[in-house]
Amino acid sequence: MSDDDRQEGCIFCRIVAGEVPSEKVYEDETVYAFKDANPKAAVHVLIVPRHHYASVSELAKADPNTLAHIVQVAQQIADQDFHGAYRLIFNTGEDAGQSVFHVHAHVLTGQVLPE
Ligand code: IMP
Repeated sequence: MSDDDRQEGCIFCRIVAGEVPSEKVYEDETVYAFKDANPKAAVHVLIVPRHHYASVSELAKADPNTLAHIVQVAQQIADQDFHGAYRLIFNTGEDAGQSVFHVHAHVLTGQVLPE
């Protein structure tokens, strides 16, 4: 990732760059996936684009192919860990529970999920 892609002080930019340790689940040239530090399900993975975008809306506008790719990676994780069933969450905005402003998909799987 080039310096231009990064946002100063962003924890997820630092994870993608390998400066902060993470439990990697998957990576390729556009996305990085790692275990959530505070899991809310048997399998709770965060998928982030390598490039910094603040929100899923910003990502959808600037790079819809990477957003579609994130969905495919979520499906792949769920296929491996729980016969293809998963919940995908993008908290967007502080009042919706977003605490890290580098877009991330929460992938919850590995168990039957409560409603
Ligand atoms: P948000 O509240 O939707 O923004 O989700 C942020 C998520 O990032 C939370 O579920 C946190 O547990 C997770 N998180 C924050 N810092 C780290 C970290 O350093 N490693 C792994 N997960 C993290």
